[in-house]
Amino acid sequence: MNIYAMLQDKLQAIREEAVAAFKAATSSKDLYDQKVKYLGKKGSFSELMKEMGKLSKDERPKFGQLVNEVKNTLEDLFKELTDALKEKELNASLEDERIDMSLPGNRMRLGKKHPINMVIDELVDIFSRIGFSVRLGPLIERDRYNFEALNIPADHPARDMQDTFYIDEQHVLRTQTSPIQIHSLENESLPLRVLGPGAVFRSDYDVSHLPMFHQIEGILVDKEVSMADLKGILAYFAKEFFGPNVKIRLRPSFFPFTEPSAEVDCSCAVCDAKGCRMCGHTGWIEVAGCGLVHPNVFKEAGLDAEKWQGLAFGMGIERLAVVKYGVRDIRLFNENDMDFLGQF
Ligand SMILES: [Zn+2]
Repeated sequence: MNIYAMLQDKLQAIREEAVAAFKAATSSKDLYDQKVKYLGKKGSFSELMKEMGKLSKDERPKFGQLVNEVKNTLEDLFKELTDALKEKELNASLEDERIDMSLPGNRMRLGKKHPINMVIDELVDIFSRIGFSVRLGPLIERDRYNFEALNIPADHPARDMQDTFYIDEQHVLRTQTSPIQIHSLENESLPLRVLGPGAVFRSDYDVSHLPMFHQIEGILVDKEVSMADLKGILAYFAKEFFGPNVKIRLRPSFFPFTEPSAEVDCSCAVCDAKGCRMCGHTGWIEVAGCGLVHPNVFKEAGLDAEKWQGLAFGMGIERLAVVKYGVRDIRLFNENDMDFLGQF
């Protein structure tokens, strides 16, 4: 057998082997590796070419052409198979990464108003309809505004260290929103109708008491103001806030900054005044304190108590929220429990 025929057989064998290896490749990467193995610089064809030196001068170009034809055939096959494999791979990855539009998405939790702020907003709306406008005061008050100017003398139990957070001897965290009315009396022209909502602080903590809670204070000052005006305003508030059938009653009481003073009860909207757990089976719920402005408060603010008269009322926001929404534990308002807060 001459060398030419032998190399021709070898070429044929490499060709068949390469075609089989190309066709067996299962991925484009695998196929590329096979191409390098046969057609690369150190591949089978390069090895074969080294043996060409054994051929005669006439035979070399002829065999070289033969090798090139086989190489071209394999290059074509490689390209054809690569295209097919790449398409298959693309389809597979598309299938893998397909988005199922029917799957439930990640729910986004929208923030909403805290129930305490909802009550404050509603009260501001109700009272602004009858001419009251909002004033805000500082959370840290001078002793004079929190007590003295409100006719609370030095020995009054409300000043007890157990109830009040003292910053120093002259300053306290305000224990009530009433100081707001003193600032208004001192700084604003009369007559006035002012509403003061805000946080207040007392050293107390249990099911019905929080160290920080919210009040809203209202004061109306004019030339002639009576208990009848006060009762009318509170009856209007009760109907707007709790419902059209709600009635109010005033019970005589005592506050240092009003005279006369009264506690305000609303008929229970939960049981329609028939008696339930919320109203302690009495049909009535205490919601506010009120009265006519004490002459000493006018005097402390530098106003003529003979010339001006006023009415004032104060309510606990948490208390109103508890009654309106039927919440059992007042502490829930401060716990940031999203499930609880989301109900309102
Ligand atoms: Zn009731």
